[in-house]
Amino acid sequence: MISVEEALAKILGSIKVLDAAETPLLQCLGQVLAEDIYAAIDVPPKDNASMDGYTVKAKDISGANASSPVYLDIIGEAKAGDVSNLEIKTHKTVRIMTGAPLPKGADAVVPFEDTDETQRTERPAKQIGIMKAIKKGQYVRFSGDDVAKGQLTLAKGTVLRPAEIGVLASLGMEKAKVIRRPVVAILSTGDELVEPGKPLAEGRIYSSNSYSIAAQVLRCGGILRLLGIAKDTVSDLEAKIKEALTADLLLTIGGVSMGDYDLVKDVLAAHGEISFWKVRMKPGKPLAFGMIKGVPHLGLPGNPVGAMITFEVFARPAILKMMGKTRLAKPTVEVIMEDSARNTDGRRVFARAVVRKENGRYYARTTSLQSPHTQISMSQANALVIVPEDIDAVKAGDTVKAIMLDWNEE
Ligand code: AMP
Ligand code: MG
Repeated sequence: MISVEEALAKILGSIKVLDAAETPLLQCLGQVLAEDIYAAIDVPPKDNASMDGYTVKAKDISGANASSPVYLDIIGEAKAGDVSNLEIKTHKTVRIMTGAPLPKGADAVVPFEDTDETQRTERPAKQIGIMKAIKKGQYVRFSGDDVAKGQLTLAKGTVLRPAEIGVLASLGMEKAKVIRRPVVAILSTGDELVEPGKPLAEGRIYSSNSYSIAAQVLRCGGILRLLGIAKDTVSDLEAKIKEALTADLLLTIGGVSMGDYDLVKDVLAAHGEISFWKVRMKPGKPLAFGMIKGVPHLGLPGNPVGAMITFEVFARPAILKMMGKTRLAKPTVEVIMEDSARNTDGRRVFARAVVRKENGRYYARTTSLQSPHTQISMSQANALVIVPEDIDAVKAGDTVKAIMLDWNEE
């Protein structure tokens, strides 16, 4: 048996970062920038008002206060989007709206609240009383103070979140060069499996893994190629696997244990190079990894929980690496156990658990069911508590590590 770390290192050692492509901005969420972005323009492009009010020369109103306002002549109005050729000369003002470019000669904006606007009845007013002195530059957003033209704005390798998508849009970009998402082919195997939506014949079960694994692929950013269910025959497996040869990664589910009909490993061994491992973990011991005509292949175990956990531990980091990401692991926290979890045979146990925070500390309680086929226990859990290989059991009160499966996610 090999360790989780050895298996992961072997897998990641065979996975390459994919190529980059110009991609429409709204398809870039969660992807990795493949080039440095230097700003082509200043953001904002022009000095503009940050409040609705009157734009002035600050020195004209340096003596203004509520009991002795300074009166200025209104020479016009500026709203966002306007290009005005108005010019503020001494003791003149322009009524200005948030976002409107400052007219020539203006150097500050007095918000409406600091004027006598509401007391004036004539419309439009010809004069305004300024009731507060403000400094030069106040309530002005200066050109380039968000991003200056020529500045390195986002570095190659940045993962694009909504904020970065917004920054790129503010520079006028509608596309960005990002590392593309991998196409991940998923093939379930087993004569007993039926697609959800079809009637369940005697002796059959629904292929739930096709769905849970597909959803995991989507969650980490992959593009699905669903190959359905292969029968436990060499010919059906061969035909279905052919459809995966133009994908970036093939995930098969089931057929890698020791049973008579566990043919996946034999078929793959006949068509490519395959390593078949027993990994020192629970659940998820049987795992296959290899290359089939240049396509990396991960053979996940068939048990629903084993499939999902081996996906988290091995397939997710592989997909993230393909996408150019460098933070491949989910966050872990130290948790105080509220119940016990056992390790019966020297394998690393990934126990399904609920982690909660109280008074700044994290507490974990395992879900009641821990068998590898009890999928509902994955649904109850938000974390995997790790019982290390060399420890027989963790008890209530012990501090252990937990991998957070859902951390600040929906
Ligand atoms: P196997 O590794 O093919 O022997 O499968 C181990 C167990 O997982 C068996 O009980 C299978 O019926 C079950 N299993 C395999 N594939 C799936 C699937 N796609 N959905 C649900 N259960 C599955
Ligand atoms: Mg099977």
